[in-house]
Formats: sequence, C-alpha cells, structure tokens
Amino acid sequence: MATKNIVVVGAGFAGVYATKRLAKHFKRNADVQITLIDRHSYFTYLTELHEIAANRVEEDAIQYDLQRLFGRRKNVKLVTDTVTTIDRVNKQVVTAHGSYPYDYVMLGIGSEPNDFGTPGVKEHGFTLGNWESAIRLKEHVKDVIRRGATEHDPELRKALLSIAVVGSGFTGTETIGELRDWRDELAKENKIDPEEITFNLIEMAPTIMNMLDRKDADKAERYMQKRGINIMKSTGVVGVHDTYVDLKDGSTFPTATLIWTAGVKATDQAAQFGLQQGRAGRILVNKQMESQDDPDIYVVGDVSLVDEDGTGKGQPQIVQGAEATAQAALSNIEAKIENKPSVEFKPNYSGFMVSLGSRYGVANLMGWMHLSGFFAMLMKHLVNMLYFCQIYSGYYLFQYFMHEFFRTKNDRNLMRGHISRQGNVLWTIPARLFLGAMWLVDCWGKIQGSGSWFTDKLRLPFAWLQTAATSGASAAGADATTAASGAEATKTATKAVFSLSYEYGNDPMPVFSQMPKWMYDITKTLIPNQDVALFMQKTMTIIEILVGLALIAGLFTWLSSAATVALIATFCLSGMFYWVNIWMIPMAIACMNGSGRAFGLDKWVVPYLQKTFGKWRYGTPKSLYGSDVVK
Ligand SMILES: Cc1cc2nc3c(=O)[nH]c(=O)nc-3n(C[C@H](O)[C@H](O)[C@H](O)COP(=O)(O)OP(=O)(O)OC[C@H]3O[C@@H](n4cnc5c(N)ncnc54)[C@H](O)[C@@H]3O)c2cc1C
Repeated sequence: MATKNIVVVGAGFAGVYATKRLAKHFKRNADVQITLIDRHSYFTYLTELHEIAANRVEEDAIQYDLQRLFGRRKNVKLVTDTVTTIDRVNKQVVTAHGSYPYDYVMLGIGSEPNDFGTPGVKEHGFTLGNWESAIRLKEHVKDVIRRGATEHDPELRKALLSIAVVGSGFTGTETIGELRDWRDELAKENKIDPEEITFNLIEMAPTIMNMLDRKDADKAERYMQKRGINIMKSTGVVGVHDTYVDLKDGSTFPTATLIWTAGVKATDQAAQFGLQQGRAGRILVNKQMESQDDPDIYVVGDVSLVDEDGTGKGQPQIVQGAEATAQAALSNIEAKIENKPSVEFKPNYSGFMVSLGSRYGVANLMGWMHLSGFFAMLMKHLVNMLYFCQIYSGYYLFQYFMHEFFRTKNDRNLMRGHISRQGNVLWTIPARLFLGAMWLVDCWGKIQGSGSWFTDKLRLPFAWLQTAATSGASAAGADATTAASGAEATKTATKAVFSLSYEYGNDPMPVFSQMPKWMYDITKTLIPNQDVALFMQKTMTIIEILVGLALIAGLFTWLSSAATVALIATFCLSGMFYWVNIWMIPMAIACMNGSGRAFGLDKWVVPYLQKTFGKWRYGTPKSLYGSDVVK
C-alpha cells in the first residue's frame, strides 16, 4: 500500500481524540502517517477557561503539552503552525511556514465568541474563547478591583466594582459563578467590603440557562441568587463602553467589566478553506462528516455542522459533540484506507453539567438523573477525567487531580480546601528521622547476638513451619517482642490488654491475635517450608534496614513511607504486631508529604529522576514542534 497521509488540523477536543485513536489503530501500519497541526504546542482544555479567568487554578493548568500526549506515538508528527488554507488541487495543507501533503484531512479548528457585531464589544468588552482571553480577563478583573477600591467618585467606583456577564449559556453561567467564588479573596486583597463587588448576569430571554431542563435551571438560579448574583432577564445589551453598557430599553448599566458570552460562531478562518458554510459560519458536512465539497476533507467539532433535523441548527457545540463527530470521521478515514463500509455520525449526548463555582453545580444525566451541589460537581470531574482515559493520558489525568483537588488555593475545590492545605515539610523531619531510627533499632536485634535472624535458626513463628520443624530444626517463635505467632499469642497472652504502654497492660495486645484465613492461605503459599522461611526472614530484615536508612537520608521518602505502611499492615495481619507500635502507620503517612525534600536527598534526587524519566518517556517539551528553528 502506498503511504497514506492523514493531516489533522486543530488539537482541540475533537482533534486530540481523533489523533489518539487513529495513531492507536494504525500503530502497526507503517504506511499510514498522521500529522497533527495546531497553532499552539499544547491542547487547551477549554471547558476550564473560566477557572483560569477567575484565578482558581494556575495559568498553565489547562495547557496540555502535545509532546506529552503524543510522545509515545511514533506515527504522529506534531507541527506548531497556523493553517492558512487547503490546496485541494495539489492535496496540500498549507500553513504560515510550510505545507503538508494529505490523502485525508480532518479539520477541527473550533469556534470563537460571536458578538453579532454589537458596538463596543471588541474595544471595551471581554470574551472567553481561548487561553489568552482568559488571562486577559483575569488581569483586567484584578486591575479594576484594585482601581475601584481606591476610587472616590461613587459612580465610577460602582462601575469599577461591578462585573457583568452577557449570556446565560454554559460559558456565561460558569464564568459568573466562578468569578463570584473569587470575590472574598479580591475584597481581602484590596481591603474592601466584599458586598461592594457586584456580579450581574444579563440575559436577553425571559428565562436563564435555557439549554437545561427548567427544574435544573431554576435550582441553579436560586443558588446564584443566594450568592447575591444579580440576574437581569429580558435585558439586551446593545452597546459597550469603558465604564457602562447601553441596554435595549434605552437605559445604561454601570460596569467596567462586560464579558460577552452570548453566542459562538465558527472560527473566522473557516471561511478560508473554500468549503460551503452554514449557520454561524460552520462548515457543512454530510453524515459521514465529509465536507460537502470534498469527500477527503472531514470536518469535526464546533466548526462542523451536521444538519440532522433539517433545521440548519446543527449539533450542539459541546465536548460530547466534538467527540462524536471525531469518532465518525476517524472511523470513516479508517474505513476508506481499509476498504470497509462507511459509518454515519451518531450523536450520543449523555447529559449536561454546569458548575457555578468550585463547589456547586447542576447536572442532568441521561435525561432522567438530576443532580445538584456536591454530586453534580463530582460528576463533572468524573466526566473530565473520563476524557483523559479516552485519550489514554495517565499523565494528564494525574495532573488534573493535582490542580483540581490538591493544589487549589483559598479552599476553592470540591472538598472545600480540606485536601489542598499546604504546609512546610520541615515539621515532619523529626517524624521521618524517628521512624527511620525505629526500623534500625528493630533490626539491630535481628542482625547480631543470639537473636540474630541471619543464622539457620527459624525465626518466623508460623504454625505450619513449626510442625515441619519437629524433625530437628528448633521451633522458633520464642522472640516474643517481634514475632509472636497468632496461634501462640492466643495461647500465651492470657490477659492481652489494649494499652499504649507495656507496663500499663499486663501483656501487649496483638492487632490480630490470629491470621485471617485468606492471609493464612497466601502466607502458606508464599512461605511453604523452612528453606523459603529462612530466606524470607533474612530478606525481610535487609528490606527493613534499607527502609530505615532511606528514611533517615530522606531518599525516596514517599516510597519508603509507603513500604513502611505495607510492611506494618502485613505484620499486623500475620499476627506479629502489637497495638502499641501501630503509630508507625500514621507517622509513615505523615512523611509522605515530601518530607525528604527538606534536609534529605529527595531534594536533588526526585527532580533529577523526574527530568530524566520525563525526557526518556516523552522527549523534551518545546514551544514549537516540527520547526527547524528550534534546537
Ligand atoms: C469557557 C468555555 C466553557 C465551556 N464549557 C463547556 C462545558 O462545560 N461542557 C461542554 O461540553 N462544552 C463546553 N464548552 C465548549 C467546548 O469547549 C467545545 O465544544 C469544544 O472545545 C470543541 O472542540 P473542538 O475540537 O471543535 O475545538 P477546540 O477545542 O476549540 O479546538 C480547536 C483547536 O484548533 C486550533 N486552531 C484553530 N484554528 C487553527 C488554525 N488555523 N491552524 C491551526 N490550529 C488552529 C486551536 O488552537 C485549538 O487548539 C466550553 C467552551 C468554552 C469556551
């Protein structure tokens, strides 16, 4: 087969999804090459833009580097460039700095805000359509609140401290909800009464959030009202100025921050491809996702328009739509290459989720399950995480967890900050050293003297080994402090007392006086006879010494602490561990907070390993891919 070139334009929700799947499908077919072109070196997770704009997550949290996503796929070539046109005669995708031959193109260049030509939006208003616009909005909000806080003129002060969003769709409501979450922090930083900062949602229709079921929309409305958001229905904005907006009824409304979210249209560049466009500039496609002018050009995501019902409205411009269109297009490209029958676009919308800040949302799943508050937000996170599974990115799934749950500021996460509290790891150094020392103290008795575990004397106290030992080997189990067998413990510890000290209780109380049956079976399988037992007792002692030394040196502290938890849990289940020493588990968990980074070797070793491993696995992330100017 002659080489087939598939060029995917746009690394958004649709493009990344399709490229991942195509790359996997053709991974053993060297005749198929895939080129992914985007104007950025990263995929922007657009559905979280409002979190950037309202300062909930770090600015780079929603930029997912393409090399990290595709570094393992040798059949994908990444190009950072802007596509300007498609030369259909010579079958080339033309970019600002080069051109790429194609057999099939998948065009997924997304959408952009539509201000319907409203005067002043471009000059004085704000939109939320890409990463840059989110940063611009964030900086502006910080600036106006700072200026408003020191403004003496009451009219101007009011306008500076008033934030208005036009449009109550997904973007508008999520943005106003998120900005409201930021209010108290902004007020504190600028030493003003939080009530002075006002939030206004302006909607032309008589009801808000009309993409939702009325019941869900009403719930969301009540929540917003409770949070003091001023909802202005049946209100049209017809002009935007520096510190006020013109309303349709002839009045004005004071605000220096007008965020326009009242509509989306295909990216302006869609017009450059010479393909037929429908409503809002979206490129018309058939049910196979082929453009109506060229069957080798597939159009997916927000920029495509499948006129399923003949109304010209098209499929919704949401992530599920992007995935469904990409799925149909990629299946058809595969089918063409492999001479299989084509498939039709099958929309599958499992529901809608809208967040109003970090802790509250409403969701409608499968049309019948209505959720609100914590569970709706949880569902939204699960859906976001599902996308990372669909594009096979464990790395970014982990990063998502980190930035959404563990590294958020000012309690702005689903768990109200309980899982993102940051502290100085210095405080756990004593715990780390003590824990390490305890392992060494414990092992000291096992490596020397009459109680040494490095002789041919059996020290493991398990009953089946003792039976086997009657032929000659001495029955161990005598080491009461470290290895009281469950069976023996029940026999000898007649008055086992739960206590924090040996003296208080007559006998220390084992966590389990007898092994649970399943543990018994596993242990007996792993250590069936004395030879294995002798080997194991020596190996275990060496592991304990290594764990102790690692903790003291602060080397691989997370792993050493995890090993401590695992070992103690195993000892407990083996009937060999007492309640008085169970503190080792919580102490080891405490040391997992990066304790080895302060006065420990992890300070140098962990960053070195991360860098080396990252480079080996993904290569070096770059600002431009596929360009000769980058070394
Ligand atoms: C603030 C906000 C909140 C949203 N919230 C939700 C939500 O909660 N749920 C939901 O389902 N949907 C939501 N959406 C909509 C959702 O993000 C889009 O439907 C989805 O991103 C569409 O995916 P796409 O692949 O078509 O385009 P995009 O994800 O926009 O990707 C397009 C890509 O094309 C690239 N590109 C564009 N032009 C060119 C060019 N000429 N050359 C090279 N590259 C180019 C861009 O850089 C971009 O990477 C939200 C959108 C926004 C803006």
